[in-house]
Amino acid sequence: MEMITNHMPTAELQALDAAHHVHPFSHQDELAAKGARVITRAKGVTLVDSEGIEILDAMAGLWCVNIGYGREELAEVAARQMKELPYYNTFFQTTHVPVIALSAKLAELAPGDLNHVFFGGSGSEANDTNLRLVRTYWAQKGKPEKKVVISRHNAYHGSTMAGASLGGMSGMHAQGGLPIPDIHHINQPNWYTEGGDMDPAEFGIKRAQELEKAILEMGEDRVAAFIAEPVQGAGGVIVAPDTYWPEIQRICDKYEILLIVDEVICGFGRTGNWFGSQTLNIRPDIITIAKGLSSGYAPIAASILSDEVAEVINATEFNHGYTYSGHPVAAAVALENLRILEEENIIETVREDTGPYLKEKWESLADHPLVGEVKIVGMMGSLALTPDKATRAPFKTDPGTVGFKCREHCFANNLIMRHVGDRMVISPPLVITKAEIDTLIERARKALDLTLVQLKKEGLFK
Ligand SMILES: *Cc1c(COP(=O)(O)O)cnc(C)c1O
Repeated sequence: MEMITNHMPTAELQALDAAHHVHPFSHQDELAAKGARVITRAKGVTLVDSEGIEILDAMAGLWCVNIGYGREELAEVAARQMKELPYYNTFFQTTHVPVIALSAKLAELAPGDLNHVFFGGSGSEANDTNLRLVRTYWAQKGKPEKKVVISRHNAYHGSTMAGASLGGMSGMHAQGGLPIPDIHHINQPNWYTEGGDMDPAEFGIKRAQELEKAILEMGEDRVAAFIAEPVQGAGGVIVAPDTYWPEIQRICDKYEILLIVDEVICGFGRTGNWFGSQTLNIRPDIITIAKGLSSGYAPIAASILSDEVAEVINATEFNHGYTYSGHPVAAAVALENLRILEEENIIETVREDTGPYLKEKWESLADHPLVGEVKIVGMMGSLALTPDKATRAPFKTDPGTVGFKCREHCFANNLIMRHVGDRMVISPPLVITKAEIDTLIERARKALDLTLVQLKKEGLFK
């Protein structure tokens, strides 16, 4: 076979891709007809495709490249670790320095008494771990009936059987017989689409109290845990009303259930603090981390457990683990990523300088005729598109039709902005500069303008 390289014509690469590569979350035949865009390199916040075109990546890959692309320090650490000890497991009474160092560092950074780290290779795996872990925890405490985990509709917790079941994505539940038993979903705190005439503060309380209602209905003796993202990411950057989390915390404190906070997106600076739990003042028993942990340079994830949870789990043999739990190369890369985040004050800069700047510019898009709501926390933001700002009405097309059109205009204008239904979302690398933020906003506004023109032509906007 001919060697396949960056130097091949784009059309040939696309044809081979279509012939042999099955893409995640994609309609394969439709994509094959169009041809996937081939990304060849990246630096900072900029991707380069096989035609040499530069694209501003306002999604940091999949919400993960927090320190930006092209940091050679991480490549060097990976090479060094591969030469010294490319792999060894930690199952059978052995350990290694990268996993020791990373565990200790995470214990130092994580809030409260979250001091004990169980590693996996992805956020989905870490949430699988959490599901087994909380059930094992209660079984150890003599309450094996406490098995139900409560989650929320439109939550995202990964794509494995447990991850997708814990998540609340209807499209995912529709395939493959999900959710698995003993997972219960309550409504999300999405005031914009579900709040009706209710005041947002009142709506926040009401949605939080669905947790209490569910616990009481099923019985406290059956519920193991509640899991939630501080800010729903893949659900469309849904920021709960301010009243929501204090009420959730009250309920978790009142009843004997564990609070699992999925920090896979919110962790490592995304919200302007190390963890979303700190930004929103949440006290978790377990957190899930992945993505920004290594800025996506290597696949690694973890569950971090409180002293109390660890004490119970550590007193038995937890029959669970992955070949790549605490992989030495991934752990070394993650450590270097944390060093850079810390030493270059990247999170502080997001909180105090570039974050507020992005917020001001992002919120300026509120004047656009298509934009019904603007939300932003740190460096994750969303715009809800609507044909009628006053009523927050949805479009007359299937949800996502308009969002997809807008995304296509972004992509054609070299901006990666994602759509979730008819919400546009951003989550740029945390190192984005003010000049790059200006470009992002300029291209986003242009895409909105082009979408509006198209919608008017198609009779979807009056
Ligand atoms: C991405 C994501 C996951 C799943 O992580 P993978 O590494 O894709 O398995 C879990 N939870 C949240 C909140 C995520 O955003």
